[in-house]
Amino acid sequence: MPEDSVKVAVRVRPFNQREMDRQAKLIIKMQGSMTSIQNPETPKDEPKKFSFDYSYWSHDGFVTQDDGFLEATPGSQYASQKKVFADLGQGVLDNAFEGYNCSLFAYGQTGSGKSYSTFGYGSNKGIVPTTCDELFKAIDGNKDDNKRFEVTLSILEIYNEQVRDLLSKDNPKGGLQVRQNPSLGMFYVQDLKKVPVGSYAEIVKRMDQGTSNRTVASTNMNATSSRAHTLVTIVFDQIIRNNAGQETKKTSIMNLVDLAGSERADSTGATGDRLKEGANINRSLSALGNVISALAEQSMGKKTMVKYRDSVLTKLLQNALGGNSKTLMIAALSPADINYDETLSTLRYADRAKKIKNQAVINENPMD
Ligand code: ADP
Ligand code: MG
Repeated sequence: MPEDSVKVAVRVRPFNQREMDRQAKLIIKMQGSMTSIQNPETPKDEPKKFSFDYSYWSHDGFVTQDDGFLEATPGSQYASQKKVFADLGQGVLDNAFEGYNCSLFAYGQTGSGKSYSTFGYGSNKGIVPTTCDELFKAIDGNKDDNKRFEVTLSILEIYNEQVRDLLSKDNPKGGLQVRQNPSLGMFYVQDLKKVPVGSYAEIVKRMDQGTSNRTVASTNMNATSSRAHTLVTIVFDQIIRNNAGQETKKTSIMNLVDLAGSERADSTGATGDRLKEGANINRSLSALGNVISALAEQSMGKKTMVKYRDSVLTKLLQNALGGNSKTLMIAALSPADINYDETLSTLRYADRAKKIKNQAVINENPMD
């Protein structure tokens, strides 16, 4: 079976206000596929070097257009949202049309740019909305009478190891149940809403609904950032009729994940409830880390158990990580010396993820 490595992208954002106020120094460099990071405490040492499939310099070299869009200045290497979509989102879309499952997840500490890359802000639309927009443009442009399309959307949040349906107003106390399909072995969320969507505008409306249902708690790191994992799932069906009138269905499941901040609980100044959240977030993320490590070892020929059952996140991402999916990870980086430890740990995490090999197959079956 053909193997697909998990593709890994890194992206470094501009300094934020806090970093500017503290006169932070730039410790990230990118050259070709190389990203290097300088330990600010040992400036004479060689920087640590990593290489990834995609490297996006979004630190400087941009102008803000009238509508707020950040565009590269001529000759700069600034990677705009358009550029990132052209590389990553377009690939997701193409794979979805071929009938592959696709997954994209954004990893990094709070404030590093995960939501910016996945969802975006204002006219700087991220990969998820642009992919949905282009999906419906392609559907609307279809002239083949023998093809029909069905799109459904679900949005959930994992918070303190509990699943909340973001398209629902009344979630049960304690969250929705995660169950395992007895025949297929896959995990799923019981009673999660899957709404059919017929246009991009409808998806936007649903996304906004999802955002307003999110659990927002403030931490010292970033007041508006969620401490939860957000998972958007789009199921894209193409029903194709052949000359004999028989129909087949191609299905692509797209899992788009904005992970909670990867920082250690103690670096956020969290106490009490916030600390408990941090512990649970780290439980899910450390389970994810363990799964990634185990899969990386497996792909290098070692026999290792992969413990998907250790957290809700890894249960739901089982296919995305070790199964039938073309998977992309975006590691979001702060450029600043004051975040050195967290950024280095993000780079190491990303470095392990790129070793994972999946087996994506086209999901095509006769209609029953
Ligand atoms: P996270 O989701 O990781 O907590 P955000 O995506 O919310 O972080 O980003 C934090 C801040 O940095 C936001 O104000 C966002 O607009 C800005 N930012 C992040 N990435 C970029 C980028 N590539 N270019 C410009 N601004 C960015
Ligand atoms: Mg965010």
